[in-house]
Amino acid sequence: MAAALAGSLQRCGAAPAAGSRSVATRVAAPERAGGSMRAEDFVRPHLLKLKAYTPIEPFEILAQRLGRDAKDIVKLDANENPYGPPPEVLAALGSMAWPNIYPDPESRRLREALAAWNNVPVEHLLVGCGADELIDLLMRCVLDEGDKIVDCPPTFTMYVFDAAVNNAGVVTVPRLDGFKIDVEGIKKAVAEHNPKVVFLTSPNNPDGSMLSTEELREILELPTLVVLDEAYIEFSEEPSKMGWVADHPNLVVLRTFSKCAALAGLRVGYGAFPLGLIQYLWRAKQPYNVSVAAEVAAVAALSNLPYMERVRDALVAERRRLFDALAAVPYLQPFPSHSNFILCKVADGRDARGLKDALAQEHGIMVRHYATQELNNFIRISVGLPEHTDRVMAALAAMT
Ligand SMILES: *Cc1c(COP(=O)(O)O)cnc(C)c1O
Repeated sequence: MAAALAGSLQRCGAAPAAGSRSVATRVAAPERAGGSMRAEDFVRPHLLKLKAYTPIEPFEILAQRLGRDAKDIVKLDANENPYGPPPEVLAALGSMAWPNIYPDPESRRLREALAAWNNVPVEHLLVGCGADELIDLLMRCVLDEGDKIVDCPPTFTMYVFDAAVNNAGVVTVPRLDGFKIDVEGIKKAVAEHNPKVVFLTSPNNPDGSMLSTEELREILELPTLVVLDEAYIEFSEEPSKMGWVADHPNLVVLRTFSKCAALAGLRVGYGAFPLGLIQYLWRAKQPYNVSVAAEVAAVAALSNLPYMERVRDALVAERRRLFDALAAVPYLQPFPSHSNFILCKVADGRDARGLKDALAQEHGIMVRHYATQELNNFIRISVGLPEHTDRVMAALAAMT
């Protein structure tokens, strides 16, 4: 263990950062001076085990590396929305009244708009710097050392990432055939491990399958908190379960402006929480977690719901077209999706990684590939504009 840690530290090339003032102040005592000190020794032990950070390349740098104009890159690797937000958003950002004043720590305007849109009492709603922040905030509030979460892979990897950051254990209940949730497996895991939280995702990322209402009901009977992540719910035919939160003291429902509302760059997510829980999230959250720009943009996006519905309809229609086109490729097996992406198994001895690299380098098309225990040799393609589908299909045809 210690040797493994030392090895990973070495791999990080961990030369102490020069001139870090707080560290310098802290270790100024003469008996600790000298060259034997290592900055890593200040880090909490469980964090030393985290994988080294690999930054995501900004769009422009990616374009430069691929030798293409940014406008020429087809970015279908992160489920972003190519239509962008309605014109009201840029107008509102351009005429922001008080960028010099700290934002409303309660995001009141946005929460009122969300309450009206979703028909959920405003007291149940909290806004965050993306749904990602709310996952971490929830974990910080409910997980003590030694506590566990249930994760159902393949799924969104932030649950496991935040569990690691928060020093929580992870009980893994893999999905069944067709990516169905293993309800019996979750029941067993809860009985055996007494986890604090079960994370469910519907539609699930990366395959786009839905959790049924019956399955959710059954899991809500268990003595554990249930987080239902609905980041992509707008693309499905199902209504959101946000309204259930008022009647279920163990249900949290998360949503986001990053996908259907096309504001991924502005970082706005929200959640509905039981009142007994939300009061502590309020106490623990960073007061200014949602910037003035983020709140202004999200409120403006909600001022034009017909636009969002048109974009949703266009992406759902394009999902059908992309699915049929992918299904016609002999070495790809696409899975039916209720979201804005399509997962494909790469078969016939083809290599998913090689496919992804060739699409990027030769055609400027970015897709996501998977080489994990649960998803070996898969790619996920976000649904884009009709011309993006055309580009993908032309590239696949050129590569055979
Ligand atoms: C994209 C995504 C989110 C998070 O979105 P934010 O940009 O942090 O709001 C949450 N859950 C799932 C499943 C996602 O795919």
